[in-house]
Amino acid sequence: MKEIINQPVILKELKNYDISLFMKREDQIHPFISGNKYRKLKYNLFKAQEQNKDTLLTFGGAFSNHISAVAFTGKKFDFKTIGIIRGDELEKDLEEVLKHNHTLQIANEHGMQFKFVSRSDYRLKHTNSFIDGLYKEFGDFYLVPEGGTNKLAIKGCEEILKPKDEKFDVICSAIGTGGTIAGLINSAKEHQKVLGFPALKGDFLRKEIEKHTIQNKNWSLITDYHFEGFGKVNSDLINFINTFKEETNIPLDPIYTGKMMFGIVDLIKKGYFKKGTKILAIHTGGLQGISGMNNRLKQKDLPLIIE
Ligand SMILES: *Cc1c(COP(=O)(O)O)cnc(C)c1O
Repeated sequence: MKEIINQPVILKELKNYDISLFMKREDQIHPFISGNKYRKLKYNLFKAQEQNKDTLLTFGGAFSNHISAVAFTGKKFDFKTIGIIRGDELEKDLEEVLKHNHTLQIANEHGMQFKFVSRSDYRLKHTNSFIDGLYKEFGDFYLVPEGGTNKLAIKGCEEILKPKDEKFDVICSAIGTGGTIAGLINSAKEHQKVLGFPALKGDFLRKEIEKHTIQNKNWSLITDYHFEGFGKVNSDLINFINTFKEETNIPLDPIYTGKMMFGIVDLIKKGYFKKGTKILAIHTGGLQGISGMNNRLKQKDLPLIIE
């Protein structure tokens, strides 16, 4: 894999603050695969190969970065892929849906077979009877959990930080299921503090993360920047993402990295960090989701994200 750079983030509004801010461009791993989804899949694919499985099955919403990542990596490494997708209404006019939904389009082009299920059935996806039904329907497969988080995924995310990153005082990451940040926490050095920015409401995440990170306690969650919930946005956020791209040339996604960077910049302005602090924010990717978000923004008369 090519070397991932840490890019300096120089913003006009931070010019008078003595803080150095960098982004680790994990988004550059691949345009369709969120950087962290690649990390999370890597050891799972090794395991699937070891177990001689030829099919990967996973779950996700219709805009999920995880779904497109599984489809793409599956094709690349010669697995068939099956996506159990939330929302049975999508099935009725799949061709039309595929025209407008970039995520499912990518997945479809990379050979993923879809099974659309109702929202209530989707909630049962962890139950044995639901999974048994899937084995009956599809035969043998390697099951990748929703969002991709399991032990092997966390092991992959422990490879994000490199020796050259030891000079940073603070490591920041957006959070969905907590797998990525667990890997960062496990691999951060003693002098480093890890800050997580949940992209959704709710405080179940702390417990989730604690399950996967035993030794290192040097981390906190910053819960003020979810913008009312997963996938929710407002014009402040969109304007921030557009200005950020204009000034730094770094594109941010509206679900995860945009909210995190909004939060970091706001905290810097509020004096949260000591003078001289060196911050490394992980760009986990998610850029494949921008066009889907823009379709929603058009309907709501909100500003669009510049692509
Ligand atoms: C999935 C995703 C995350 C969240 O990762 P978790 O390991 O689920 O916390 C963050 N950023 C992007 C771009 C993602 O696609």
